[in-house]
Amino acid sequence: MGYCLNAAQADQVLSALRKDYRVYAPKRFPKQGRYSDTDVIRYAEVERFGDIVWEVKSDYPAKEVLSPIQQAIFYFTEDEYRASKGPTKPILILARPCDINAQHVQAKIYAGNGGYDDFYYQRMREQVHFAMMECGGGDDTCFCVSMGTNKTDDYALALRFSHDGVSVQVADPAFAPYFGGMPQGEYIPAFVEENELKVEIPDLSDKAVRQALKKHPMWKEFDKRCISCGSCTVACSTCTCFTTRDVCYGDNPEVGERRRVAASCQIAGFDQMAGQREFRSTAGDRMRYKVLHKFHDYKARFGDSHMCVGCGRCTHRCPELISLSATVNKVNAAVDEIKADLAKEGR
Ligand code: SF4
Ligand code: SF4
Repeated sequence: MGYCLNAAQADQVLSALRKDYRVYAPKRFPKQGRYSDTDVIRYAEVERFGDIVWEVKSDYPAKEVLSPIQQAIFYFTEDEYRASKGPTKPILILARPCDINAQHVQAKIYAGNGGYDDFYYQRMREQVHFAMMECGGGDDTCFCVSMGTNKTDDYALALRFSHDGVSVQVADPAFAPYFGGMPQGEYIPAFVEENELKVEIPDLSDKAVRQALKKHPMWKEFDKRCISCGSCTVACSTCTCFTTRDVCYGDNPEVGERRRVAASCQIAGFDQMAGQREFRSTAGDRMRYKVLHKFHDYKARFGDSHMCVGCGRCTHRCPELISLSATVNKVNAAVDEIKADLAKEGR
């Protein structure tokens, strides 16, 4: 069933939905961007149709709703603890296809990985429904088509925004009552078919190639250029690493809460072990780890897709203008070089 709503009608539907759901969408926060007088667009609860930013990609991904940058996991006193409360209301998230596909990646890591479900992610994910925001093509950092994440059928509603209002397809009949009395109209969702940016995924199936790539000089470039700030992983739609931190209330260190806080494999000391030992002690080592995780290791473990969904947010947020797509293209060139060398050696 399709509907064509003007802004006032969209406000009425949103207000009806908000009685039963917490509705999250990209929202503009004026003057909170990283440069003076710039805005930031991130996920937050929306109260009015006009709050929804649909013309440009959000700076931060939809994952911030499901796995916030920090959250209390339990509260403790000297001799007892209590888990934090989960969401009390179902959640509707307005997200582009890449962000919805990113949740399939995150779900594989958080749920059932190694036989354990992540309790905090799982209780959130069970409450989430998606409203797919049609994407008009993204920007010059997007390469969802190369990653196969430009399409999805995992949505309860599909939405096409315009300056006049929004066209809606109701895919989940449970949402039909919210549109009672609204003007009907034909709407078939469309997906991005081509990005300006194309990325060729390197063929890393050969172990000898991977071993040679590990030692390739291309990674040294990042020792000077990457400042190991971790901004790329915070903005990444699919990164999941976190650490924990205890926050004590008042003077008593035995009363407080334990939070989980986003962590980044790009920050020095991320993999530090007892005895100060580190496996990836340079920025280049850490970049290699991230890129190979996104474009080989995740797929080798989980099978069906690469971890990167091509949202381009890491490139967009990097203060050193390091482009992930350009890095992957460099990996491709390095792999060709390595294969030629191995062929000369008869391997
Ligand atoms: S690595 Fe970059 S392009 Fe890929 S999902 Fe993460 S932020 Fe998006
Ligand atoms: S955002 Fe850029 S500089 Fe910061 S860790 Fe990532 S690649 Fe390095």
